[in-house]
Amino acid sequence: MKVAQQTAMVFNLDKCLGCSTCTVACKNVWTNREGSEYMWWNNVETKPGIGYPREWENQDIYKGGFERTGKEKKPLRLRNRGKVSEMLNLFYNPVQPTMDKYYGKKGPFTFTYEDLQASEQKQQQPVARPKSLVTGEEDIELTWGVNWEDNAAGTHETGKKDVNFANMTEAERDALLAYEKVFYFYLPRICNHCMNPGCVAACPSGAGYKREEDGIVLIDQDVCRAWRYCVTSCPYKKTYFNWRSGKMEKCVLCYPRVETGQPPACFHACPGRIRYMGPLLYDLDRVTEAASKEDWELVAAQRDIILDPNDPEVIEAAKREGISDYWLEACRRSPVYKMFVEWEIALPLHPEFRTMPSLFYVPPESPMITMLDDNDCWTSDGDWLPALDEFRVPMAYLASMFAGGNKDEVKKALSRQLALRRYRRGQEVDGVTNTDELEKVGLTKEAADEMYRLLALAFLNERFVIPTARREDSGQDPFIERGFTGFTEMAPEADMKRRLRFHAAPHEGNGSKIADEGRPVKEGE
Ligand code: SF4
Ligand code: SF4
Ligand code: SF4
Repeated sequence: MKVAQQTAMVFNLDKCLGCSTCTVACKNVWTNREGSEYMWWNNVETKPGIGYPREWENQDIYKGGFERTGKEKKPLRLRNRGKVSEMLNLFYNPVQPTMDKYYGKKGPFTFTYEDLQASEQKQQQPVARPKSLVTGEEDIELTWGVNWEDNAAGTHETGKKDVNFANMTEAERDALLAYEKVFYFYLPRICNHCMNPGCVAACPSGAGYKREEDGIVLIDQDVCRAWRYCVTSCPYKKTYFNWRSGKMEKCVLCYPRVETGQPPACFHACPGRIRYMGPLLYDLDRVTEAASKEDWELVAAQRDIILDPNDPEVIEAAKREGISDYWLEACRRSPVYKMFVEWEIALPLHPEFRTMPSLFYVPPESPMITMLDDNDCWTSDGDWLPALDEFRVPMAYLASMFAGGNKDEVKKALSRQLALRRYRRGQEVDGVTNTDELEKVGLTKEAADEMYRLLALAFLNERFVIPTARREDSGQDPFIERGFTGFTEMAPEADMKRRLRFHAAPHEGNGSKIADEGRPVKEGE
């Protein structure tokens, strides 16, 4: 067993308002600059739909993530055929979304807001017209954007290409997309900081890396040569090319905030309070084995490699890896551990991409009332709450998104939420504490009470359990460390030297040598 650390997340889709406050928070903090106009490290999509960039979930088009080889020694390979193919095509990578998949042919746009203030006096109200941020052309045709399908706009057309309908007949799909039948829910997305990241595995330059101290996936801007294979191999399309710097960029999980114990900007800003963050421990030695299971087994396999932070054997192995008591204590309070492992109400997005996401989603319950008559509401069996098979969002659709097609995983997650509602309704409305419904779905009263608190009432410090980076543990000189991020106790020596070189001699370029004490070496010294 090799214990690894991971900062993990849960989004509760039942509570997402679709307000995009998260998107704006990230945009203002990280990508509000030239070269990053089309980057949305956080975006909120409406499902059914094909999202941003268009059809990102369709790996027949984009070849992201991993596929099984059937070989015992090397059971997984990148779907994009791996490094040999990359090297042969290094200067031309054809498998990536073009700009018209993100925006229209004229690229990202703004509006001529100045017309609203400086317009001549007219009979009608002045309007702001769309203007390309690339060419400056005005009155351009808008054909796509980051929340194009917001609130199911146009879903009856675009929804037909949603891959999550693949296991349904055309008639079933069309029936679900009919105006009066349509269902929708929001899907906020950021980089999943995967345990088996496709973007890192594909990078020919070695610029993509996963930090050992917290599992955050980053791209080293000094090393990146913009071959863009991370775009291809990230099945979630969460890496972006910056045309101004010529480097790849992605969500950094707001690591400067996380290192000081604060939640990321998009998490902190979320008014729906749907977001949770907490650390996990997992067995690094079993990641490949777990990621190579059959599609329907992948959720259980991922759960299985998450280690119990209360287990004495795990604690001992973690200490051997140098994991601090502080981290272990945070793992025991982690809301993510509770929701993904203990209660099994959260699920990864598209586990069949085999990158093992560290972001899990509580699947949405459908509208709770299915009929309305003379101000009276009931479901088909006369109950206030619907049965699972009366849910408006089809189980097959949710299973395709969150469980590799395994409906049982989704049913378990949803039935536990329903049981919790019945239990709480009994307490609040009827004044009785009846645990029958809980027992049917394998929940104890204590678990249900804790679940209710975490899902409905939790304060900020309960939703975000974030161990800070501790300078005193790192053993590094604070003067050298200043300006870096994280602690580098586990960084290989060569990496440390490269960082020192960059820090000590930012103008010397990557070719300068390093003196023992970290200062740049002059030619001939
Ligand atoms: Fe990499 Fe993030 Fe994509 Fe996972 S979701 S493959 S960590 S960019
Ligand atoms: Fe942006 Fe930070 Fe949210 Fe990542 S975690 S999407 S960098 S705000
Ligand atoms: Fe709004 Fe939060 Fe949903 Fe983002 S995740 S759209 S901030 S409710």
